[in-house]
Amino acid sequence: MKIKKDSLQTPKGTRDLIGRELLIWKRVTGICEEISSYYGFEEIRTPHFEHSELFSASLGETSDVVEKQMYSFRTRGGDSLVLRPEATVPIVRAYFEQGMQSLPQPVLLYENGSFFRHEAPQKGRYREFGQFDLEVLGEDLAVAEATVIRVFWLILKELGIEASLELNTMGDKECRPVWRKELTTYYRKHQEKLCKDCKRRFKENPIRLLDCKEQDCQAFKAKAPQMLEYVCDECKTHFKEVLEFMDALEIPYRLNQSLVRGFDYYTRTVFEFVADIKTVKEDGIEETKSLAVAAGGRYDNLGQVLAGKDLPGAGGGIGLDRVVSILSDGMDSEKFDQFVKAEKPKVFLIQLGIAAKRKTLGLMEDFRKAKIPLAQSLSKDSIRGQLRLAAKLGVAYSLIMGQKEALEGSVIIRDMDSGMQETLPISRAIERLRIKIK
Ligand SMILES: [Zn+2]
Ligand SMILES: [Zn+2]
Repeated sequence: MKIKKDSLQTPKGTRDLIGRELLIWKRVTGICEEISSYYGFEEIRTPHFEHSELFSASLGETSDVVEKQMYSFRTRGGDSLVLRPEATVPIVRAYFEQGMQSLPQPVLLYENGSFFRHEAPQKGRYREFGQFDLEVLGEDLAVAEATVIRVFWLILKELGIEASLELNTMGDKECRPVWRKELTTYYRKHQEKLCKDCKRRFKENPIRLLDCKEQDCQAFKAKAPQMLEYVCDECKTHFKEVLEFMDALEIPYRLNQSLVRGFDYYTRTVFEFVADIKTVKEDGIEETKSLAVAAGGRYDNLGQVLAGKDLPGAGGGIGLDRVVSILSDGMDSEKFDQFVKAEKPKVFLIQLGIAAKRKTLGLMEDFRKAKIPLAQSLSKDSIRGQLRLAAKLGVAYSLIMGQKEALEGSVIIRDMDSGMQETLPISRAIERLRIKIK
């Protein structure tokens, strides 16, 4: 039986990570882990699937993710599970399940992994997407979100990505309902002129009207009542403290009153790091868009929703697909080598004939232990072909072993620049090369 041609391709919105892109990816997550660990975050790995209810209860039944983007399935045993669409909820679940309340608070965690949403794929946005996530759990002071924002800021700076920080507050359970009512009153007057999505949002959650990207809705958005006018004194003081942290850390920011995050669990501070990203439209024309590369916020009610316990906290994630795509687009081969710290081979091993091949098997391992990067060709090429490959790789020296050398237990070192050659016993080859390539 032959499988269908389509089945030989990755499912829509997924891809194989290979070569250059994967090397950049690994370096990016390496930098994320290095900086986060330095600032006290410890790694956590949660499962790729969780109980469906966990997300429907916490993200909000009417959020886009729960409504139409979750990959849900029933197991043979009848459990209703979903591929995790985000990181915060599983981490808060783990906090309670693993008894982290008994640890010194706050608990700082990072998670690096894949998440899944059924969205329209485009460049830098996939249905299986990579995210590096930070959470500060058990801290109600502004230092929690300030720490998360700061570490993201440092990571983006280290990566050389120019991104600007946007901040807003969404209030809490005291003051948000007041604002929400004002928004409803305001939008009711314009209901007829709103886009299709907004008509639905108006009924379900009017706050999400501010999220609309449709051109026709922008005018209404601009004149909508702003949260900052309705926040209670506690929320105002908290937000002021966040901004004071930003000033103290010298992190520039912009207040964006229409910045709202799509999940119900957010309270008070929400933030986004926005960068200019080149995208290709459907008609093939390139355009530059301002898109979020990292985002997050505070979620003081999430502990109550999930476990009936208070757990103030803040967190967020860096979108790895987008970050890697930005870096990859702006990197020539020299910058790439610097970034991934590619260790180029210094020596090329040329072997001719079966006897030589057998002899060099052990030699390769000696070079590995001596930490001298070595390249070789596994094909049955002629000496000319192998020398050409060595020149292409730009190695300084080639190590040549033919029939004669294999018999004698010797090897030839060839200086690739001058073409000068010397023959010496195999046992002395590593020592000699070590001096030469220093
Ligand atoms: Zn709209
Ligand atoms: Zn408030």
